[in-house]
Amino acid sequence: MPLTRWTNKASGWFKQSLPGYCAFCLSPGQVSSGWCQECFDQLPWNLHVCCQCKEPLSHVFANAQMLCDHCQAEKPAFSMVTAELLFEGPVRALIHDFKFHASPRAGMLLAELMLANTPRCLGEGLLPVPMHHMRARERGFNQSYWLSEQLAKRLALPLINAVCVKQLPAQHTLSRKERASNLVGAFRIDGPVPGHLTIIDDVVTTGATGQALATVALRAGATRVDIWAIARTPLTHS
Ligand SMILES: [Zn+2]
Ligand SMILES: [Zn+2]
Repeated sequence: MPLTRWTNKASGWFKQSLPGYCAFCLSPGQVSSGWCQECFDQLPWNLHVCCQCKEPLSHVFANAQMLCDHCQAEKPAFSMVTAELLFEGPVRALIHDFKFHASPRAGMLLAELMLANTPRCLGEGLLPVPMHHMRARERGFNQSYWLSEQLAKRLALPLINAVCVKQLPAQHTLSRKERASNLVGAFRIDGPVPGHLTIIDDVVTTGATGQALATVALRAGATRVDIWAIARTPLTHS
């Protein structure tokens, strides 16, 4: 179980891995994407999900086209969500190193993991989740923008810019309802936007950020907005 071995290591350990070696188990060989097939297969895949927002579902239904309670109650502003991994184990550790230690090696691996699950239709532009300039100054970079730049280069798509005009409290401390009300008026998009665009985020938690940004993009003239993230938080009762 190479990945289990990796998970037990301290966060940041994978920074020592070298090109040509699996970032997770350090085994050498045919590693063109940064990992070996065995470790890739063992990643925490987000398999039993709402078909619209990709929230993990508590029960596995025979019908694959199942909607979660939230999407059944109200249709989200966004259309498709791609979030193929769960925010846990090695994925959580990688995202932590990327966001809080600004590790470009972790960032590149995460971009590669996203590209390994590229949505079939991305539209005409990528829209990074914007960060308030005070938060960006604190952190030193905006992780969604950094990922979007890598993906845009690889996929030859333009970046569409939005701004965050409201200082938001740390979202993870808030309930689903509080997140949604905090995000009212938080984003602005100036200028024309293409008809179909894809929001880029690192982790989708309740979908409130994507909902708020998609609503603004639709008001700015988009006709379809999708979300493409690395991971979805595991099932909670938020
Ligand atoms: Zn491996
Ligand atoms: Zn849903």
